Amino acid sequence: MAAVNTLVLASGNAGKLKEFNQLLSPLGFDVRPQADFGVIEVEETGLTFVENALLKAREASLVSGLPALADDSGLEVDALQGAPGIYSARYGGEPKSDEKNNETLLAALSDYAEGQRSGRYWCVLVYLRHPKDPVPVIVQRSWEGEILAHPRGKEGFGYDPLFWLPEQGMSVAELPSESKNRLSHRGRALQGLVELLQVAHG
Ligand code: IMP
Repeated sequence: MAAVNTLVLASGNAGKLKEFNQLLSPLGFDVRPQADFGVIEVEETGLTFVENALLKAREASLVSGLPALADDSGLEVDALQGAPGIYSARYGGEPKSDEKNNETLLAALSDYAEGQRSGRYWCVLVYLRHPKDPVPVIVQRSWEGEILAHPRGKEGFGYDPLFWLPEQGMSVAELPSESKNRLSHRGRALQGLVELLQVAHG
């Protein structure tokens, strides 16, 4: 049996912690929240998802003295030149709320007809063996869809009621959570990370 490698997750989100542990514990990793080590949320000053994930992972690794994992995600809409992008969580202003974000997105797209509302979710995962790791493991995965004119469904969070999946014929908020975990940008990024760590940790 492989030795347990403790790894710090640069997030305070309990749902993410559970999801990461489920996939990484079979590989011998014990994923712990950054709060256990007194890591305080770092300011996300990067201009890309990968820069922000790197900032978060580096801080968590520096303070905890452990290898660290961070994720960053958001929505990119073509008609809006990539917005809300790295500002997805606070697109509707502070204090951040999913409702205000969705209202802002609908208003920004009000002049765009069906067929002109393409976009994608992105999830970036970064794994650092130590704070000065010159070769971070980076995984970036997207999930294509279209932005609806009216919300549909009650599952999920964030922009899910407005994110239409043409292949499934439903919004993400109408999709059962098991299917979301399998198909989503985050689910597939996690699968990609597991494959890379399997190679790195044999
Ligand atoms: P963070 O990576 O946890 O900071 O999330 C950034 C923001 O992107 C969230 O607050 C949501 O607005 C949006 N987002 C990222 N992934 C999803 C998703 O799976 N569904 C809906 N919104 C998402």
